[in-house]
Amino acid sequence: MFDTHVNLHGEAFAQDLEDVLGRARASGVQRFLAICDRYDNFPAVRAIAEAHPDIWCSVGVHHHHARDFTNLTAGTLIAEARHPKVVAVGETGLDFHYGYSAEADQVRSLREHINAARVTGLPLILHTREADTLMADLLEEEYAKGAFRPLLHCYTGGEDLCQRALALGAFVSVSGILSFRSAKDVRAVIAGVPLDRLILETDCPYLAPMPMRGRRNEPSYLVHVAEALGALMGVDTETIKQVTTQNAVRLFSRVAA
Ligand SMILES: [Zn+2]
Repeated sequence: MFDTHVNLHGEAFAQDLEDVLGRARASGVQRFLAICDRYDNFPAVRAIAEAHPDIWCSVGVHHHHARDFTNLTAGTLIAEARHPKVVAVGETGLDFHYGYSAEADQVRSLREHINAARVTGLPLILHTREADTLMADLLEEEYAKGAFRPLLHCYTGGEDLCQRALALGAFVSVSGILSFRSAKDVRAVIAGVPLDRLILETDCPYLAPMPMRGRRNEPSYLVHVAEALGALMGVDTETIKQVTTQNAVRLFSRVAA
C-alpha cells in the first residue's frame, strides 16, 4: 500500500515516529507521502523524507494557513519542488466551513499552487469543504489556461465537483471517513469513481477508520480503509491494495523515477 497523506512532522507522532512507521510497514504500507501544511514546516517535512527511503513529501501551504503566507508565490514552490523527494504540490484548497483564512487569501494561495503544479507537472493535492462550486469553477478556469493534475484528497464533497474534476483527469483519495456508519453520502459519490482513479490515505492523526475509530489514527490502520473501499466497490481487499498502489505510483510519478 501507498499511504498518500500522512502528517508525520506534527506533534501527534513526535514521541514515537519510528514505531509508527514500523507498525505501518509491518501492516503492508510500503510508501508514504509526508504532507507539508505550512511553508515554515517544509524543512522538517523534507528532512523526514530525506531520512527514509520509503518516504516522499509535498511542498505547500494548507488553506487554513493561507493568511500567514500571503507572499507565497508559485516561484517559491517551483524552486522547492526541484528537490528529488518532493513529489507533489500542496496541500492547498478551499474551506469555508472553518474559514480560518479569508476567502480571498485562500483563492490567491490556491492559484499560486495550481500554477506551480502546472509548471512542475507534479500532482496538486486539494482539499475542499463547503466550497464545491467555486472549486470546480476555478479548476476548470485554470485548466483551460494549461493542464495540471488534480487530486481530490480526503474527498467528502458532492457528486458535481467529483465528476467535473474527474473530467480533468483528477484522482480521488479516500480516508477512514469512508468506513464511518454516517458517511452514506461519501460512499455514494466514491462508488461512482473509476477504480483506476482511486488512492488511499490515513490523513492522520484524526479520522481513524472503523474499527479503530476514536484512537489516534496512524498509517498501520490504512488496511481498514482498503477493506472499506473493497466492500464498497465489490472488490477483494488484496486487489484494492494492489490497484490503489499502482494508481498512486502513476499519480506521484516522481516516486518511481
Ligand atoms: Zn486536507
